[in-house]
Amino acid sequence: MRIIKFPEQISEDIIHYTFLDDIISYNCEKCRGSCCHVNNSLLLDAKTASFLKRTYLKDFIVSDDSVSLLSCGKKCWFHSELGCTINDLGLNKPLTCELYPFHIKKIQNFYIVSFTPCPTFQLNLGEGQRYKDIEDVVLRYIKTGVPVFSPSLHVSEERLKYEIEYQNNFKNTLSEYYRTKTADGTTEFKEYEKWYIYYLDFRWGSIPLSYTSSQANQFWNLYKRVCEDVYKKISYIRTDNIYFIIANQFNKTISKHFQLNFIDKE
Ligand code: SF4
Ligand code: SF4
Repeated sequence: MRIIKFPEQISEDIIHYTFLDDIISYNCEKCRGSCCHVNNSLLLDAKTASFLKRTYLKDFIVSDDSVSLLSCGKKCWFHSELGCTINDLGLNKPLTCELYPFHIKKIQNFYIVSFTPCPTFQLNLGEGQRYKDIEDVVLRYIKTGVPVFSPSLHVSEERLKYEIEYQNNFKNTLSEYYRTKTADGTTEFKEYEKWYIYYLDFRWGSIPLSYTSSQANQFWNLYKRVCEDVYKKISYIRTDNIYFIIANQFNKTISKHFQLNFIDKE
């Protein structure tokens, strides 16, 4: 794994979203901060950092010339039963929290924005999170230059460009699929059809990207099968782990599939 810094200047053309525009929704009021109970390092703005450095939290702040990060333990300092209280203190919400449940990683020249499933996640066609509403926080986050995850991948520029193009086209297909399904206003998605929304995210893993573009064309059928298989076993597994279970199964399935095809051809 390699940690890199983003450059000062970035073009919006090289920001890629792995999920559909205007379909994912989550309810923070209902959830009241599941994401505030993990070991976070929160990216503070100058005003909040300067204030907190004068409080008992000063020992938990790590700063360099441009950024300040506040370490939280298993529960954020500002979390209460009613949710986040940081604004009530006249302080600004950390950029980390503004960005969440979205994540940014960098692969070569592309910034990949992914979605982490929230406890209250649901598909809400036409009423979900819009790219344009998170664009500002994504850009602000990138421009801070704070180190972000950048997996070590040996992927060619050609393969990467194929992936971006494939994903942009696929988003239209998936959007159409959901739209057609709900055209009469009554059809509900099957549970495993909701998991299709993670598909593009999983394609950014080191295993899927190690396959050629023509092999990658076969992923979608394999992925749908994985979703159905996992769904059949759902009573045996914890549903809050679904995202990780599917990711794991998808990687295993494609590795096995191409290994078997390779043996067949020998
Ligand atoms: S886990 Fe998701 S829904 Fe819950 S508070 Fe955090 S961002 Fe909101
Ligand atoms: S600052 Fe607020 S939103 Fe961010 S982790 Fe703490 S309680 Fe949660």
